[in-house]
Amino acid sequence: MDKVKVGILGATGMVGQQLVRLLERHPWFEIAALAASDRSVGQVYGEVCSWRVSADMPAAAREMRVRPCEPQALSDCELIFSALPGDVAGSIEEAFAAADYVVSSNASSHRMSPDVPLLVPEVNPDHLALIDVQRRRRGWRGFIVTNPNCTVNALGLVLKPLHDRFGLRTVMVTTMQALSGAGYPGVPSLDSLDNVIPYIAGEEPKVEREPLKLLGRLEGDEVREATFAISAQCHRVATRDGHLESVAMAFEQPATVEEVKDALREFRGLPQELGLPSAPQPPLVVREEPERPQPRLDREAGGGMAVVVGRVRPCPVLHVKLTLLGHNTVRGAAGAAILNAELQAAQGYLRGRTL
Ligand code: NAP
Repeated sequence: MDKVKVGILGATGMVGQQLVRLLERHPWFEIAALAASDRSVGQVYGEVCSWRVSADMPAAAREMRVRPCEPQALSDCELIFSALPGDVAGSIEEAFAAADYVVSSNASSHRMSPDVPLLVPEVNPDHLALIDVQRRRRGWRGFIVTNPNCTVNALGLVLKPLHDRFGLRTVMVTTMQALSGAGYPGVPSLDSLDNVIPYIAGEEPKVEREPLKLLGRLEGDEVREATFAISAQCHRVATRDGHLESVAMAFEQPATVEEVKDALREFRGLPQELGLPSAPQPPLVVREEPERPQPRLDREAGGGMAVVVGRVRPCPVLHVKLTLLGHNTVRGAAGAAILNAELQAAQGYLRGRTL
């Protein structure tokens, strides 16, 4: 089978670089084009990109010339991964979808649009049916699918089996988010070293809103959002990768600590069933040591695609509390977008451009 040719928008940024790394030896997808801003267009990727991921820059990418983020400039691609900033992604992604491309986006621009799937393949694969609604409403042959915010990707995976089994009533989450979540160069070193910043612009509203769409029920042409209450407090801490989240929950049905652990350990989704190339086996890792998870020790679990949960214990105010860790640029961004595209490929949504 010929590999699907893909283009990456925002290829020089933190998420774009992870996409380049993760797609290097992908069995289904092959990078054909790298695109970024006017600052980089026309230059050779290996020279213009400040490579900041641990592995070496793939040789094929190194030699590619950076293209503009315009549909006509990526006409040899079928599938587009967008790692553009939220304030520019909206119209650019729409132009690609209107020009018959499949767009798998990390940006926030379209996440809450009623006809755009906000997808975590283990959580709500049925929401892909919104693609047909989107095409019909907008008159596109292409389409946009988004993944949630980096914090919500990990949180949503943990909430899913608990909501299904016990029903969530209240979720309180306090995050400790890595510096790479702010992109590159991100937070100045004099602000981040020896410090915790108790504010991340725009983050708390996303963490309080996106899980409700993610865990919502598809009814006809729309998603009826889940109705539990979420309160989020988000902090930037001086770790490099891996968002740590302390979560306390109240349930509709009584649940013991052991029942919560069992629900998390037993959880499997459609990607695991289908054996998608980027699906972690298992998606959730439950640890018993009192001091885990930790960003440095646990962020690479399942190649960065598994979420690690620990410290599951009773909560004297709500019912149960725990700590979770997700790799923000892999499970929270690049890996999430790739897994989304793998599910679309497996379900026949990538059929080749016709323009
Ligand atoms: P970043 O490091 O700042 O990279 C931004 C990329 O977009 C660069 O390639 C940049 O190209 C390009 N770009 C900027 N302005 C542009 C324009 N006007 N036209 C075309 N390209 C433009 O950001 P990031 O952290 O990778 O984040 C990318 C997206 O993913 C954002 O929407 C972010 O919210 C989302 N996201 C990030 C994370 C994370 O953990 N970092 C997690 C989840 C989601 P130049 O190098 O040429 O300027």
